[in-house]
Amino acid sequence: MDLETQDIKYVPGVGPKRAELLNKAFGIRTAEDLLQLYPYRYVDRTRFSRICDIDDEQTFVQIKGRFVQFSRVGEGRGARLVGMFSDGEQTIEVVWFKGTEYVTKNLQLNTDYVLFGKPSVFSGHYNFTHPDVEPLERFNQQKYLGLEPYYNTSEQMKSGSLNSKAVRKIMSGLIAQVRQGIPETLPSSLTEPLHLMSRTQAYCNIHFPADAHSLRKARERLKFEELFYLELQILRQAHQRNQGVEGYKMPHVGDFFNNFYFNQLPFPLTGAQKRVVREIYEDMKSGRQMNRLLQGDVGSGKTLVALLCALIAADNGFQTAIMAPTEILATQHLESLRSMTQGMNLHIDLLTGSTPKRHRDEIHRALTDGTLHILIGTHALIEDNVQFANLGLAIIDEQHRFGVAQRAKLWKKNRRSPHILVMTATPIPRTLAMTVYGDLHVSVIDELPPGRKPIQTYHRYISQRDAVDRFLLQQLRDGHQVYIVYPLILDNPKLELANVEQGYEYVRLHFPSYPASIVHGRQKSAEKDEQMRKFAEGKTRIMVATTVIEVGVNVPNASVMVIENAERFGLSTLHQLRGRVGRGAEQSYCILLTGVKLSRDTRKRMDIMVRSTDGFEIAEADMRMRGPGDMEGTLQSGLPFDLKIANLSTDGQLVELARRTAEAILELDSDLSALHNQIFVRQLQRIKQQIVNWGDIS
Ligand code: ADP
Ligand code: MG
Repeated sequence: MDLETQDIKYVPGVGPKRAELLNKAFGIRTAEDLLQLYPYRYVDRTRFSRICDIDDEQTFVQIKGRFVQFSRVGEGRGARLVGMFSDGEQTIEVVWFKGTEYVTKNLQLNTDYVLFGKPSVFSGHYNFTHPDVEPLERFNQQKYLGLEPYYNTSEQMKSGSLNSKAVRKIMSGLIAQVRQGIPETLPSSLTEPLHLMSRTQAYCNIHFPADAHSLRKARERLKFEELFYLELQILRQAHQRNQGVEGYKMPHVGDFFNNFYFNQLPFPLTGAQKRVVREIYEDMKSGRQMNRLLQGDVGSGKTLVALLCALIAADNGFQTAIMAPTEILATQHLESLRSMTQGMNLHIDLLTGSTPKRHRDEIHRALTDGTLHILIGTHALIEDNVQFANLGLAIIDEQHRFGVAQRAKLWKKNRRSPHILVMTATPIPRTLAMTVYGDLHVSVIDELPPGRKPIQTYHRYISQRDAVDRFLLQQLRDGHQVYIVYPLILDNPKLELANVEQGYEYVRLHFPSYPASIVHGRQKSAEKDEQMRKFAEGKTRIMVATTVIEVGVNVPNASVMVIENAERFGLSTLHQLRGRVGRGAEQSYCILLTGVKLSRDTRKRMDIMVRSTDGFEIAEADMRMRGPGDMEGTLQSGLPFDLKIANLSTDGQLVELARRTAEAILELDSDLSALHNQIFVRQLQRIKQQIVNWGDIS
């Protein structure tokens, strides 16, 4: 049987109508697609509960017993049939609103039944509404062997009488076919040493597992297969592009770099900065186009690395574009690069949406005649009329604020793609980074500049606000500046605005001698910039804001970050926010303010923040706690195909195993030309085919 070509229409129990429902709901077209509709839950039908065991944790329970009474209750729409079901010790109510005639006709008192369903709570008591009821005799004939699968269904499927039970029935027929044996997609040279189930076994056991152990093994096999082909595909692409895409050669380290390095460097580079500059330089001189991700925690000194790379580009006669996500950040970059390179004959400029036309024309001229070395800007940089004479290096700061499409546009500014350096402070756990950015090389700055005092973080309750205020006052008196940040409230922007505005009023009332700025998403960008600028220049001492200030603003004199309603923030945002302070030599503080009643998860988040300042540790914890989160959603959208069973954040170990396995194979046979590797080539082609087909119909 050929699963991949067998139209589901012809799978027993499906037919054209149900085929369409399955197709609409999940894009299922072939028997193989259907097999990959994995159960979302299993219920052990060999175990029985007692009524006294029912609690909130259980989803489905199964009880053996008898009905001891039936009665009709209520009138009109509320009319219902209520049965009292006894397991010999206690009784529980069973309620039917519909099909009561059928129930009265078919269910008898004092006969053994098996009741199966989800208990619900009604006026303080557990009951069952419309459970499955089966005579014990018939139940015993079914010989439930193990775990019973439950499938996701769409509303349309349900109203087309294709509920989970119906899907299970179809699946059971299909699995009977599969049991005869289906072609393998992994060679025994992998399945044997890794102790992986055969593909046939895996499909049988993922749908109808004999026990929990077989289910685990089935999952492991299917996840591994998925991840292995993902890694193989990504590594092959990376290999092809390393061979294929020619890049500008920048072998010279000349006057610009040396002058700066030996005469202007404001402080010695950290070891990590030196290492990543070397890594980047290796790429720039290689003749192949660089695609590198530079990860470094907030404050690790990425800007200086960017400048050093731009100087190498300039030494080789190339221009550099540096793109920042906001005007403020772009302006700060301009100022810090200009001040560091003062007296050098290096021409740097800034282009944003608010650059006046005359200045803009000047920039265009300097770009096209090649006299402008470094152009900093916002997305205005990728507007079509911005032309470079010789763009050799594109640096993108704070990558998570840019769309992939925008970046692609920047690459295309030239005849040949410039070298690309994407800088991000969003720590991405390694396993994830190496998969999602498989064809991107990753450099990590894992060291902060010396002399930084780690930020001290405290968790305080709003009931302790007075003490917090006294502390803020002390810091303000010492000449420092303070951030007070409120969460974005997506489902209630009015509340968010009210919070920020109230916060601002509070500050004016309680700290009358210290001017404050206010920044939120409802302001015009000119107003926002003005408020931020005042704070950056020290004209205002307190910044009351929503998370719009999250992105890399650098105000070294700010020593306290107060986060209001900290329970509403995710770990990565908390960490990003905290990174706004601790940028100078003074001791800095982060205060997490929450209500008193906290969920377990929130408490954990606060504890991690108080305990750790390591972005990577926090990112890993975030992944573990949230499972597939927003970040993963964005990241997964960059994969060559969707994952159906594996999960990049929670299956980290399997990801690494798959990665290493794929690497080992490609190391011996980089283009997969060996005869024994044809199984991989065929499977990759099939996967590609499936993606194309899916694209056609959606
Ligand atoms: P980020 O990686 O968050 O972009 P920045 O480049 O803004 O960090 O650097 C943060 C601060 O650290 C800046 O004030 C910068 O001048 C300073 N800095 C960068 N590198 C060093 C270094 N090697 N030694 C001391 N201070 C440094
Ligand atoms: Mg930065």
